[in-house]
Amino acid sequence: MSLPTPEAHLSAVLEAVECRNQGEPEFLQAVREVLETLAPVLEEHPEYIEAGILERLVEPERQILFRVPWVDDRGKVQVNRGYRIQFNAALGPYKGGLRFHPSVNLSVVKFLGFEQVFKNALTSQRIGGGKGGSDFDPAGKSDAEVMRFSQAFMTELVHYIGEHTDVPAGDIGVGAREIGYLFGQYRRLTHRYESGVLTGKGKGWGGAEVRTEATGYGAVFFAEEMLARAADGVAGRRAIVSGSGNVATYVIEKVQQLGGRAITASDSSGYIVDEAGIDVDLLKQVKETERARISEYAERRPGAHFVAGGSVWDVRGELAFPCATQNELGVDAARELIKNGVRAVAEGANMPTTPEAIEVLQGAGVLFAPGKAANAGGVATSALEMSQNAARSRWDFDKSESRLHEIMRDVHELCYSASERYGKPGDYVLGANSAGFVTVAQAMLEQGVI
Ligand code: GLU
Repeated sequence: MSLPTPEAHLSAVLEAVECRNQGEPEFLQAVREVLETLAPVLEEHPEYIEAGILERLVEPERQILFRVPWVDDRGKVQVNRGYRIQFNAALGPYKGGLRFHPSVNLSVVKFLGFEQVFKNALTSQRIGGGKGGSDFDPAGKSDAEVMRFSQAFMTELVHYIGEHTDVPAGDIGVGAREIGYLFGQYRRLTHRYESGVLTGKGKGWGGAEVRTEATGYGAVFFAEEMLARAADGVAGRRAIVSGSGNVATYVIEKVQQLGGRAITASDSSGYIVDEAGIDVDLLKQVKETERARISEYAERRPGAHFVAGGSVWDVRGELAFPCATQNELGVDAARELIKNGVRAVAEGANMPTTPEAIEVLQGAGVLFAPGKAANAGGVATSALEMSQNAARSRWDFDKSESRLHEIMRDVHELCYSASERYGKPGDYVLGANSAGFVTVAQAMLEQGVI
């Protein structure tokens, strides 16, 4: 039986995915972005075509959808939809966050799960990929409502997770508070203190040092490695950051620690510009503690100003870190960034840059770090939390941060050398996709048709 050419195989797989997953634009976008880069890998590994690796890789191993009924503060019954997509466990237990946001639907959770498979492979931490969440909107909910919702969510999720099965963590709308409520309910339902079932726990009960900072710090470490290759660095550079959650906050902090100046942050209402460099403590106070709008920052900080609506990518800077959400940086923004002298873009969020914008940026010679590589520090530190839990040990902040730094250097090296091997040195999209893919594909090949 003769094999199809890599190109023919890839377009056949893509066509089948498009046919089977209609109405799921984000998922199709994520799959397309990966498949488009894999021809040279398949050229080198025809055995992956023969073993049907791609056909299997694009189909989640298991998709769980469930009802989440709960009672709000007025005594009214509310119903949300819960998701857990167990995408691929060839490398280890499914691992990936939970997102609570009204935009969550099957397409979004599947795109995130698909990306997670490659990202987790790049960390070399032996974790498979999964993702979950709900269309529950935490905005404006009381603490008691968030608790009741989280408990109701776990009441169903409990059947599918476990430290050796599937290990959820946070994502947009799920932070330390939600992980606490989810863990409490898991413990109550199972009668087990199974620390390793969730990551991002409170530090007093099994949470790892640096987990909160890890995604943001990791993205800056990756950018630093990428810039160093081009004889450049974060020091002395202006950084434009979108978002104001966990990832953005710690990108800002690390940029300043490395001698750069992060001057923006945003939320759904608009963005702030602070030429003196964002005051991280004030940002945390406004967004994390008070859960207020970002304009509040500008009210309290002399010299800072708030722009309602608009695009943070209009602000001039040499570094850009999209850390808000998917498809937040399109072609127009990419052109604006280039006009303003951007040298590197590193994705703190998952798939924040549209495929067209990536093309424009790469075409202009801008260094581009895709999320699967640049934001892998969060999940990598989750894996460190799992191993500390398993060993009943606890690392201090410095050890945890230096381990994270090492991992990000390794992720960068893996991506860079794959980009060289497959013919486009410095193309980190090709590098991340191909290095992640080969790791997962090889494990799948060796484990048989599963
Ligand atoms: N949600 C994060 C991500 O996108 C972290 C997942 C985790 O720690 O399991 O990678």
